[in-house]
Amino acid sequence: MAVTIIKGLCIGCGVCTQMCPSGALSVQVKTAHVNAKMCTECEECVFACPNGAITL
Ligand code: SF4
Ligand code: SF4
Repeated sequence: MAVTIIKGLCIGCGVCTQMCPSGALSVQVKTAHVNAKMCTECEECVFACPNGAITL
């Protein structure tokens, strides 16, 4: 399991990549991507995203 990135809402700001304690997030071609094997579902990124682009 892992969080879901809502691509239509993601602006590629990178805030979530800095907040993730597991290093599971990266920004590629201006959109965030999650490595499902690394995500622990801690929800830090869900609260950190300024655009509401991450859901669990
Ligand atoms: S914080 Fe939100 S808008 Fe910014 S890159 Fe991550 S998912 Fe996209
Ligand atoms: S839920 Fe936690 S571990 Fe998963 S991508 Fe977000 S910040 Fe990283």
